[in-house]
Amino acid sequence: MKTFRIKAYAKINLGLDVLRRRPDGYHEVKMIMQTVDLYDDLEFTKLAEDEIRIFTDKEELPADQGNLIWRAAARMKELYQISEGVSVKLTKRIPIAAGMAGGSADAAATIHAMDALFCLGLSLEEKQKIGVKLGADIPYCLMRGTALSEGIGEKLSTIPAMPSCYILIAKPNIHVSTKWVYTNLVLDEHTNHPDIDGMLASMKKRDLLSLSNQIGNILESVTIPAYPQIAAIKECMLQNGALGSLMSGSGPTVFGIFDDKDKAMAAKEKCRELPYRCFVFVTDLYR
Ligand code: ATP
Repeated sequence: MKTFRIKAYAKINLGLDVLRRRPDGYHEVKMIMQTVDLYDDLEFTKLAEDEIRIFTDKEELPADQGNLIWRAAARMKELYQISEGVSVKLTKRIPIAAGMAGGSADAAATIHAMDALFCLGLSLEEKQKIGVKLGADIPYCLMRGTALSEGIGEKLSTIPAMPSCYILIAKPNIHVSTKWVYTNLVLDEHTNHPDIDGMLASMKKRDLLSLSNQIGNILESVTIPAYPQIAAIKECMLQNGALGSLMSGSGPTVFGIFDDKDKAMAAKEKCRELPYRCFVFVTDLYR
């Protein structure tokens, strides 16, 4: 095999809780992750030269060590003593620095692709061990679907699938630094933690309405006071038929859950009319 094509899917967090800060600086989290049908396309081609070349349609993305694709490919080459190189063509659709794990999804796709191209025969667990050293969300991106993520993101369990629905995604044209969000998160007795266990119970009962009422992200306590646009987009979605609406990851992307595609499309137009230059997109769940 000389060429391998793969899709790297985005995720949303239906629930995101931070339990504590570890002495090593990592955060212990409890998150419900859901893959959505929004993806980057990656095409890998073997090279005779010992090089990693990245071609992307997004100017702002680095094509060198700064790109997670490069780092994942280099790590695989080093671990498995691969002397050949690889050329990667990335068609980017997942909004960048949006809280949708676009970089992690690309890195996960790279690990899958290197395994396939160089016939390494790795198990999912082996790939996840490689991935976690490159980024906490990568083990989840390697498995996809609906999952509970604990520890620093490396303890993953499959949970009942989210009931079918439509997801409206709106990313305002602002940049929110993940590091800033975690640094400014206050964890004390006044912190309002989302009820992740309650959400899991609703998912088990396949109760979309109750799940939508419970979705919660502790990081909104940092981002919403600083970026009121996030609250305004959530409100717009709720006013226009969303069963629930939440910021994903460390933001600024907001998503809304809809039981009807027409309602989701109409709400998309309303979000587009907001003065925040939003990237808006209606999708459904990755199955
Ligand atoms: P998460 O939800 O895991 O916090 P994110 O959606 O907030 O991720 P990414 O889109 O993964 O953020 O990008 C974060 C940073 O990583 C960006 O500043 C970007 O320059 C860098 N980056 C490196 N490689 C990639 C890649 N292949 N795709 C997107 N961003 C990348």
